[in-house]
Amino acid sequence: MGGLAASDVNRLGDLTGKRVLVRSDLNVPLDDGKITDDGRIRASLPTIQELAAAGARVVVMAHLGRPKGAPDPAYSLAPVAARLGELLGTPVAFATDTVGDSATATVAGLADGQVALLENVRFNAGETSKDDAERGAFADQLATLGDAFVSDGFGVVHRKQASVYDVAQRLPHAMGGLVAAEIDVLERLTERPERPYVVVLGGSKVSDKLGVIDNLLGKADKLLIGGGMLFTFLKAQGKEIGTSLLEEDQIPVCLDYLERARAQGVELLLPVDVVVADKFGDEASARVVAADAIPAGTVGLDIGPESGRLFAAALADAKTVFWNGPMGVFEQPAFAEGTRAVAQALTEVDGLSVVGGGDSAAAVRQLGFDEDAFGHISTGGGASLEYLEGKTLPGIDVLKD
Ligand code: ADP
Ligand code: MG
Repeated sequence: MGGLAASDVNRLGDLTGKRVLVRSDLNVPLDDGKITDDGRIRASLPTIQELAAAGARVVVMAHLGRPKGAPDPAYSLAPVAARLGELLGTPVAFATDTVGDSATATVAGLADGQVALLENVRFNAGETSKDDAERGAFADQLATLGDAFVSDGFGVVHRKQASVYDVAQRLPHAMGGLVAAEIDVLERLTERPERPYVVVLGGSKVSDKLGVIDNLLGKADKLLIGGGMLFTFLKAQGKEIGTSLLEEDQIPVCLDYLERARAQGVELLLPVDVVVADKFGDEASARVVAADAIPAGTVGLDIGPESGRLFAAALADAKTVFWNGPMGVFEQPAFAEGTRAVAQALTEVDGLSVVGGGDSAAAVRQLGFDEDAFGHISTGGGASLEYLEGKTLPGIDVLKD
């Protein structure tokens, strides 16, 4: 990806001996304390290495999952520190708190070029607080641990949070290479994308993703809808969807999008068949049914094979593709084929293909695709979507002054 060329870490001047706080996105999936996909850790390496090579004492801040503003061993970054050390090829000092005695001592113990990781910043309620003063108080404490701040956690730049936003207001700051590279790709998607421009949306967060359609209806040539949100569209068309994911209050929104797509000549493609099961996750009962014949009492967990071919055909001549959200519950083989079909089609795109979203990126790796077969695999789903929605990202905006 070579994003380092675009980092503006140079603006911080000579970093030798300086303590540099780096916000990274190390929010990796864990299963029983074991990291199942280390893509985000690997994506964060270049900036950490760049700073260490410049002689900085690198203090990495990150979060894991959604702890409730207090320490919770299930969300400890300890396994991430170990993996980060392995990947860097040098030990990473791990602070067992965020701004307490351990953090202070760990940072004080760093030599030039060494790296430390603070415990999960979300163990402190100030991190995600909506109250500026509470967030600011935590940011004040974090800022005592650094002489400068580098923002490199793309997955969180859409969040107005202490370690993303408020710390930047308190220290000399710069944009890391990962964030710079991500923004660069997003600009290519929004400013005069090469056509045909196809957007594929899926995943589970229905209302999050419906928002982006609003903006893309005016920009994309084709919109392909899979994942959980497809059922709200089918329901809007008056179809039976059994016990599939549904956001009832979004039905009028879906109807409006269907109408606008028609009016604006945007091809909005919905699956023609789906894989259903008797209950969520029940692979043994998985079967393909037509999208307009979903049996009551069944749950839709993937797009069907005919839809996979339809989507692949719609992607075949694309020059620009943005894909966010798996087509089905890819974590289980019986519901992974729709996601595989779309991923395969993206690898064949002769143009810019972008995969956005933590689970989507994990899916392509889990299904055995070579990351290099895609134009760009983004580390942040929510941040990408908000950018594409035309929203201002607080964590980017704050770096501008
Ligand atoms: P991303 O992280 O790429 O933005 P999301 O977090 O929105 O994607 O969604 C990923 C999740 O969506 C996956 O865990 C997948 O199992 C789930 N999912 C996909 N299709 C369905 C469906 N039909 N019903 C329920 N969950 C689904
Ligand atoms: Mg996700």
